[in-house]
Amino acid sequence: MRVRIVVGNWKLNGSLEANRKLLGALRQAIASPGPAGCAVCVPAPYLGQAQELLAGSGVDWGSQDVSRHEKGAYTGEVSAAMVAEFGCRYAIVGHSERRTLFGDTDGMVAEKYAAARRAGLTPIFCVGETLEERERGATEAVLARQLDALLANGVAALGEGVVAYEPVWAIGTGRTATSQQAQDAHAFLRERIAKQDKAVAAKVPMLYGGSVKAGNAAELFAMPDVDGGLVGGASLVAEEFVAIWRAAGAQVKGG
Ligand code: PEP
Repeated sequence: MRVRIVVGNWKLNGSLEANRKLLGALRQAIASPGPAGCAVCVPAPYLGQAQELLAGSGVDWGSQDVSRHEKGAYTGEVSAAMVAEFGCRYAIVGHSERRTLFGDTDGMVAEKYAAARRAGLTPIFCVGETLEERERGATEAVLARQLDALLANGVAALGEGVVAYEPVWAIGTGRTATSQQAQDAHAFLRERIAKQDKAVAAKVPMLYGGSVKAGNAAELFAMPDVDGGLVGGASLVAEEFVAIWRAAGAQVKGG
């Protein structure tokens, strides 16, 4: 059976006071590991707080990005080793907001993935097409290009990571992909990985991201290749996020 995971992406949100309430509520609701994994990816300055408030609970924590560099004259960057020192389990790489707003290229994302692995983190590798790309029928070509940039470094590393399919047009828009659209994209990605290594393809958890909410999570997670969710806005509301996590745990998938 494949691991199921729900990961919150707080993006540029939070304050020490607000986090205390949110993390406290998560800790209370998810006091110990459940059938699905759970994690929150918080802004880097709050990693210490997440570590302090979540250690020993069923909720892991992670970073929203890492530098592809290990150290040196890269002002403003945060390395994978630095976030690992705060007990992170995960690091998101290649989120569409990093790709479109901050210029992360496919090659840079692959470097960030490798940097996260070197630091012992589990990278959450995000891919997804824009609305324009979907409408001109380029979804699979875009997913293939993004995935192949990572596979160029060897398929084995993917066996140590997580893939997140996040159609750009569904992120933060309230417009969710249908469960069939999500399944089709996940199946395409898994088949492409299987061409290089069937065992890795069968094992790698694939999360759907894009306006996941308590009300649509169960339907999405019921699809055979959807192993959980990467959740933005709804991860800022404890009850909503916990309900999504419960929906993931309620599903059982064959791997
Ligand atoms: C995300 O930030 O990765 C995301 C999927 O956001 P939202 O759930 O708000 O669409």
